[in-house]
Amino acid sequence: MKRKDILYAGKAKSVYTTDDPELLILEFRDDTSAFDGEKMAQLARKGRVNNYFNAFIMEKLAAAGIENHFVERISDTESLVRRLEMLPVECVVRNFAAGSLCRRLGVEEGLELAPPVFEFFLKNDALHDPMINESHIRTFGWATEEEVARMKELTLAVNGVLRELFAAGGLLLVDYKLEFGRFQGRLLLGDEFSPDGCRLWDRETREKLDKDRFRQGLGGVIEAYEEVARRLQIPLA
Ligand code: 5GP
Repeated sequence: MKRKDILYAGKAKSVYTTDDPELLILEFRDDTSAFDGEKMAQLARKGRVNNYFNAFIMEKLAAAGIENHFVERISDTESLVRRLEMLPVECVVRNFAAGSLCRRLGVEEGLELAPPVFEFFLKNDALHDPMINESHIRTFGWATEEEVARMKELTLAVNGVLRELFAAGGLLLVDYKLEFGRFQGRLLLGDEFSPDGCRLWDRETREKLDKDRFRQGLGGVIEAYEEVARRLQIPLA
């Protein structure tokens, strides 16, 4: 499958049409951004690492019955995906307090959250992805009531699969963000799952092995992503 036209260029990925109207190509670039694009950099090998990482996770989720848009990896930095009608909503699950939760509620980073916290955010860079609730989603028509329920159900089901998967590599899945879209009357998981959109800590030392290394200027960003891949036995070539 070959790229046709560029459909969308995001901060870290580009999306291309193909000869098949139902299929798109996702290109994972080396570009990295944080704080809604305020901080930008190119990190060598990131596109490749995230492409392999995402393929591995999406295949694990599909095997666990969580339908998603991933079809196949077609090169080191590209994957073929189904074309979804994306909902403008981000779903976040948190197993430990970090990031915006700590800032908003004044809780200490690392506090275990049981049961896990579920939050919706509006996907809107200009508004800095504000937190929203089900009432906003219903009133503004961002998703149907049925889709809201399904997004929550699927996002929490992902937690069950991935907490265990990362635990096997001595890692804590602190939190993560998922996005969903419509495909032939069903709701499928879309976008990506990589250390760009989740937090992963070493279980013993709580060392950060995710994009917070970039956000917080800790260095060793891609080395950390590669360490996670190594622990999960994700091949990177
Ligand atoms: P927080 O709300 O603490 O900033 O983020 C919660 C989790 O969702 C983190 O794992 C973070 O990486 C992910 N996340 C939230 N919003 C975005 C986003 O716009 N882009 C990416 N890549 N990840 C996000």
